[in-house]
Amino acid sequence: MTADALHSRSRLAGYDPARLARARVLVVGLGALGQNIVQTLALSGVGRFVLVDFDEFEDHNATRSPFFPDAEERARLGGRKAACVAHRVAAISTAAAPEPLYGETTVQLAGDGCVRWADVVVSAVDGIGARAWLAERARLHGRPMVEGGFSGPEYNYSVFSGAAGANCYRCFNPVTFSSMSCREYAREAARQQIVPAIQATAAVLAGMMAEQVMNVLHGDHGADGLRFYGDIRRATFDRVTLAVNPDCPGEHDPLPVRRAPAGSARPRTVADLLEIVRRETPDGWITPSEPLVRTAFCTRCGVVCRVRAVESSWARVPRCSDCGGPWPPAPALHPGLTLMIPIAGAPDPDVAATELADLGILPGGHAVVVPTEGERHLLELPGDPLSTFSRA
Ligand SMILES: [Zn+2]
Ligand SMILES: [Zn+2]
Repeated sequence: MTADALHSRSRLAGYDPARLARARVLVVGLGALGQNIVQTLALSGVGRFVLVDFDEFEDHNATRSPFFPDAEERARLGGRKAACVAHRVAAISTAAAPEPLYGETTVQLAGDGCVRWADVVVSAVDGIGARAWLAERARLHGRPMVEGGFSGPEYNYSVFSGAAGANCYRCFNPVTFSSMSCREYAREAARQQIVPAIQATAAVLAGMMAEQVMNVLHGDHGADGLRFYGDIRRATFDRVTLAVNPDCPGEHDPLPVRRAPAGSARPRTVADLLEIVRRETPDGWITPSEPLVRTAFCTRCGVVCRVRAVESSWARVPRCSDCGGPWPPAPALHPGLTLMIPIAGAPDPDVAATELADLGILPGGHAVVVPTEGERHLLELPGDPLSTFSRA
């Protein structure tokens, strides 16, 4: 069949198949919602995806997972959602040469190289921490974001512009999860566990969101700044225009990008990064995309752990290696967080030794640099931002 015949009906409906085939879509979260969105986009002819999820399939996912793996796929690809979904997307996409890439990691550790790569960012992820992170990076890079969630028959979704000054996800979700706040931690845990997810709502919401993704890809920004609410059981649907919250803690202005100076070696640790930054910015701060947890108390036995990673990594398994976590116990240390890394002077040894990969700063990714004099900007590291993802 020719591509003309294949896409004849979508063309009549107003889509441009060539545009969809070359569009770059980042989808974070590959549960019921993410899979249903990706399925619709792939069938509609979107071919280039980066798919991010660290989670594994569980048996109960089968009632709302179009890409639930069979035994052979599980054996071949492992039980993780990202690999299974990417391989199915490669099989069903109607784009001429589909290229689904995937990462079996948290979005915070996948880093923001893939955000900059994307024409549109889709947030289908559980948890306000990951959503706020993604919203923030999308805006810093000026990328539009389509975001949604559901619970039982109720759903909501929004479309955020990538433009400076527009409202953002955090305008109405100002609280960010922090591992240092017990109440937020408990709320987050509850949110992750008890959301009743059903396929009917996932499919309806995914259709709505996929259509907005394709609107954005066609240059139609009519839904920017709107939030939509629906209930599939009562068959209701509403929309509201979101205001810009003047007290929003989020980023509203994209930052300029500066490439690392030519000849920079690929940095491995924060100390290496500081050396590169100092060549053009002698003084100021680097702000990690999340607080850097240098050390923290194991939540089971109370011993101090050496963490040296972003807060979301610690919060996933806040335990020492003796209690089944990944972090080595280091009883001689004091607990501590770093929000801003000074550029000048001798850095804290735990900060200096932190691997950039554990901060989600990867090849082709970015660090926010705040000079004492001059413009806040994103420093782009050397390397290909897609090199850390796998090919389906
Ligand atoms: Zn905002
Ligand atoms: Zn422990």
